[in-house]
Amino acid sequence: MEAQLVGGTPTGVADAVVGDLGTRAKTCAAAAAAHALEVDAQARFPAETFAAAKTQRLLGIMVPKALGGEGASIADVADVCYQLGQACSSSGMIYAMHQVKVACLVRHMGTNASLQHLLRRLTAEQLLLASSTTEGQGGGNVRSSEAPVEQLGNGRIGLERKASVISYGAYADGVVTTARRAADASGSDQVLVALLKCDYTLTKLQGWNALGMRGTCSEGYMLKANAPADQVLPEPYEAIHARTMVPSAHLLWGSVWTGIAASAVGRAQAFIRNAMRHSNGQLPPGAPQFTKAMSTLRTLRGMLSTSLRRYQQVMDDPQAMAALDFQTMITLTKVEASELAASTVMSAMRACGLAGYRNDGDYTLGRHLRDVLSSPIMINNDRILANLATPALMSAIPATLRE
Ligand SMILES: Cc1cc2nc3c(=O)[nH]c(=O)nc-3n(C[C@H](O)[C@H](O)[C@H](O)COP(=O)(O)OP(=O)(O)OC[C@H]3O[C@@H](n4cnc5c(N)ncnc54)[C@H](O)[C@@H]3O)c2cc1C
Repeated sequence: MEAQLVGGTPTGVADAVVGDLGTRAKTCAAAAAAHALEVDAQARFPAETFAAAKTQRLLGIMVPKALGGEGASIADVADVCYQLGQACSSSGMIYAMHQVKVACLVRHMGTNASLQHLLRRLTAEQLLLASSTTEGQGGGNVRSSEAPVEQLGNGRIGLERKASVISYGAYADGVVTTARRAADASGSDQVLVALLKCDYTLTKLQGWNALGMRGTCSEGYMLKANAPADQVLPEPYEAIHARTMVPSAHLLWGSVWTGIAASAVGRAQAFIRNAMRHSNGQLPPGAPQFTKAMSTLRTLRGMLSTSLRRYQQVMDDPQAMAALDFQTMITLTKVEASELAASTVMSAMRACGLAGYRNDGDYTLGRHLRDVLSSPIMINNDRILANLATPALMSAIPATLRE
């Protein structure tokens, strides 16, 4: 979908490879890696990563050039997520969640001048956006909202939402949230609302002391907003969900999990090499598990690249994106990426044995395992598989390998 810019040339999500993005991502990943242990141990926001991301101007890369961004492609952003995921899982996931929200704004703001202004500010000031979809007792049912948008008059809206999880809510410069369109709308008749810090207050309802992804600081809040009415995205959330939210979330989260898996495999490789150096070149007993980890990492990377390529091919074609086959493929990308990443990290840990299991030493993999275990529950795989049961029954089973 092309973004028509008010007072600018029409542009969209460009596919151009951004000059030195790789180097800038590397610099940011180095800052993330240097503080990853501390971020995990203290369950604190990875401030150093995001200071570096701002210095490297990584937060607005997906914004169109006409709005001050770089028009980076989803593949460019996925690579940054992969690099950050290798360095510090929480940093990678925060970056991914921010970019999912940016993608929704870029692709669905239409000619809305307020939203275009917001994106200009995001790029100029390197603003960090958080995400609110989980609400009340609704769990991972993103396609249903409880709290309605209230028209306050004077061109303003109100929203009071029991947001059970908003990662890095306390550190973000804005929140992009789902909401029921109006008090008389059904739960699935939703809109997406972009809020800046001056538009809302957060009252903490719940802390975040979790097994992994501890640095995401995914606390629960009562979100109370009073914002300009034109910060409601013009398209219904239903369309945004299918065309952008699900594909970008699944691809970018998947890239972070793949980064975690790659880092774990790297550690297992170092362990095996070290063990061989100390035993006259003899492979340690855990070596087959390392081979298995390499194999699932390869499958994971291949699956993710195929899904990324497929999305880039159809992302500007609403009809192709609505096709059952594409929606099933992109939805299952999340399930497959999370299962493969978790099993890769598990194999890497088995390859390292006790050295991987213990929490100290060069080959410890406890943090990787705890972090990657968030992947099947971040929109629960069981929920996704149950929702896909009917479409899967309607899908044709390919008769030849070429299909
Ligand atoms: C690290 C992390 C960061 C997060 N950050 C954010 C954030 O910034 N903003 C935000 O809004 N949310 C965030 N979330 C929440 C996330 O988006 C999901 O809402 C949440 O993970 C779902 O939690 P749940 O398993 O309790 O809920 P549910 O999906 O409701 O699942 C509860 C249980 O019911 C089962 N279940 C549910 N539906 C079905 C079904 N149809 N068939 C079979 N079983 C089913 C599941 O398997 C599970 O055991 C985050 C989650 C994590 C882990």
